[in-house]
Amino acid sequence: MNLNIKNTFTSELPADSNLENSRRQVMNAAFSFAKPKKTAEPKILHVSPEMAAELNISKEDLKSNFFKNIVTGNEVYPNTKPFAMCYGGHQFGNWAGQLGDGRAINLFEVEHKHKNWKVQLKGAGETPYSRTADGLAVLRSSVREYLCAEAMFYLNVPTTRSLSLSLSGDNVLRDVLYDGNSAYEKGAIVSRISPSFLRFGSFEIFAARKDTENLKKLVDYTIKHHFSHLGAPSKESYINFFKEISERTLEMIIHWQRVGFVHGVMNTDNMSILGLTIDFGPYGWLEGFDFGWIPNTTDRQNKRYRYGNQPNIGLWNLYQLANALYPIIEEVAPLNVILEQYKSEFEKKSLLMMKSKLGLFTWDEGDVKLIQNLEDSLQLVETDMTIFFRNLSNFTDKNSGLQLIKESFYDFENISDEVKNNWNLWFKKYDERLQIERISSEERKEKMDAVNPKYVLRNYMSQLAIDEADKGNYTLIDELFQLLKKPYSEQPENEKWFAKRPEWARNKVGCSMLSCSS
Ligand code: AMP
Ligand code: MG
Repeated sequence: MNLNIKNTFTSELPADSNLENSRRQVMNAAFSFAKPKKTAEPKILHVSPEMAAELNISKEDLKSNFFKNIVTGNEVYPNTKPFAMCYGGHQFGNWAGQLGDGRAINLFEVEHKHKNWKVQLKGAGETPYSRTADGLAVLRSSVREYLCAEAMFYLNVPTTRSLSLSLSGDNVLRDVLYDGNSAYEKGAIVSRISPSFLRFGSFEIFAARKDTENLKKLVDYTIKHHFSHLGAPSKESYINFFKEISERTLEMIIHWQRVGFVHGVMNTDNMSILGLTIDFGPYGWLEGFDFGWIPNTTDRQNKRYRYGNQPNIGLWNLYQLANALYPIIEEVAPLNVILEQYKSEFEKKSLLMMKSKLGLFTWDEGDVKLIQNLEDSLQLVETDMTIFFRNLSNFTDKNSGLQLIKESFYDFENISDEVKNNWNLWFKKYDERLQIERISSEERKEKMDAVNPKYVLRNYMSQLAIDEADKGNYTLIDELFQLLKKPYSEQPENEKWFAKRPEWARNKVGCSMLSCSS
């Protein structure tokens, strides 16, 4: 394995001078050097060959002991120095102070085909930022992160990626439901990849500490390497930097809404500065369409991070970032303009996105109402979002609309006549609306199928793969990995995954109830 190693982050940004791996507040530094922990019996369970190819890691390399040791933290790549990043964050609406990579360790940067990738291990042991926890990760959460990041990539949702999923061979103690019932679980390590792992919180921590010098250094570094088209450091480029982050964040969240993804913990430490989906923890996929749905049990009371609130939270988080960048911009007005734009752009983009899901491409003044009616109808009784939109692309006749979406209802037998009438009315309006479109129904179907996935990583699917993996069987991980590489394709041989959540999964831990314990 011969990688083209770079180290822009550690060579251009201030390092913590303390080299001890002890838990502490780290001042005036963007990162601390920290080595991964050796593990008892590392074993690779799965790799993403596509991601490996992006890094110039060959199929032969993937089979080597060296690769296994690198991605499980048992060996350090020659001439590299692993490190953990310092960041803070607003958690559930409150400033939480220093957080940092408590269980992530960055290995190195790889440059290949003019792209610079950061390689990071999650669950490879403690760092100065581990606070009261152990720096480790368990198999269940690692399977979920590993599969979902790659699934998002193939759904065309901006995301960090996965390279490998491994067992450490160590056991890890966890209390899944925070109810005093701790148990040992298998330890695991995911190697994950991104052009950058910087978060809103990376900037907030310097601002909170009134360390404007290092804040500026970090912004200049980020613009130089990730937003170079914005030009040399200046107030103008800083404002444009914020503008672009705002646009990318909105873009990402609109994609989440499109595919029915609920992140679950949209704290500012989990918001990528590049607008990529990052930190797959207690996330979930909508089954029944429901703006109020939240998979994270920690958020059951307030539902701050519920599906329908994700765009608002994106904006709230951008306010925190604006505050953090203010010391180097020193003007409120341009930041406010950008935040206002987020709101108006959200209205426009979300309408366009919903229209594309319905196969509507021309303009009509009734569109907003048609879509609102649809969203209301979808929430009358439990209606599977993925199946509904996928089946809708076969719509040809208003009289068979209900029949077409029948299989998306969780309890069709008991649906009232009122609900049925409501749907028939909606299909009548949809049919009328389609008359002013200029494309054929075949073409419309093709376009709709390109934005309405047939296969997503339903919560129960991950859980099945996890249950098998716990017993030492990893075939389902690969089956789902392969399935989710073509989420928009019909794949008739995989039709069994185009199905509603089975009843056993309705209230099961890991399927509808997820905690931050991972
Ligand atoms: P999260 O909510 O998963 O994004 O985590 C919030 C913070 O807690 C981050 O700083 C993580 O690095 C840290 N953290 C989460 N789990 C662990 C763990 N097992 N060991 C150490 N730090 C952790
Ligand atoms: Mg996090």
